[in-house]
Amino acid sequence: MSTLAIMGGTFDPIHYGHLLVADQVRHNFNCDKVLFIPAARPPHKEGVPISSARHRLAITRLAVASNDAFMVSTLEIDRPGPSYTVDTVKAVHQLYRPEKLYFITGADGVLEIMTWKDVNQLLSLCCFVAATRPGFDIGNLKEKLKDLPEEKLKNIIPLSVPALDISSTDIRRRVRKGEPIKYLLPEPVEKYIKNHRLYL
Ligand code: NAP
Repeated sequence: MSTLAIMGGTFDPIHYGHLLVADQVRHNFNCDKVLFIPAARPPHKEGVPISSARHRLAITRLAVASNDAFMVSTLEIDRPGPSYTVDTVKAVHQLYRPEKLYFITGADGVLEIMTWKDVNQLLSLCCFVAATRPGFDIGNLKEKLKDLPEEKLKNIIPLSVPALDISSTDIRRRVRKGEPIKYLLPEPVEKYIKNHRLYL
């Protein structure tokens, strides 16, 4: 496989914003496949309640089922301990041997990348795509990353995606309040959330 993108996130729940970002990156960077990797225990979310990995994996599988270019990996869910991205990227290199590897995630998360494990090594192993929501202040990202050497900085690419106005936090809030979520995520995901009474 020559060009691969990893879509990393908690996906609690996965929604159309995530799917659009993944497809846009696949298109922009000529990726052969996009590998969705739900985080088991995001390192920055110790103590924060999130849905079980089993549910997040199930809805991620339902969401990508209709796209042949999308795959789901249980790499982080199967690995004990916190889900450090550098470990995941190393494992993907070993498993798939891609010529080029991208790691896609939200720009809000990338803002904190300087605190991530082995950030310099991480940025030499893959290129980051930082998906920005409408209204995101890109100057803030530049300021946070100012200590990175130029050759690492060029490996962080911001990508503006309008539909990313959809957010998992808002979807969970809507479910709690009994508001509709129908056009925010794929129908099988909506049904799964309802059947398993998630986010109530
Ligand atoms: P988060 O804090 O839940 O999300 C931060 C922001 O990014 C939210 O606005 C979120 O929106 C958005 N987002 C998350 N994943 C996205 C994606 N794939 N595409 C577009 N937007 C996305 O972040 P998270 O989901 O827990 O973590 C993101 C990734 O970074 C995971 O793979 C995690 O393991 C990794 N991470 C690694 C380290 C480390 O190695 N030390 C530390 C932190 C995070 P939604 O809520 O709508 O998704």
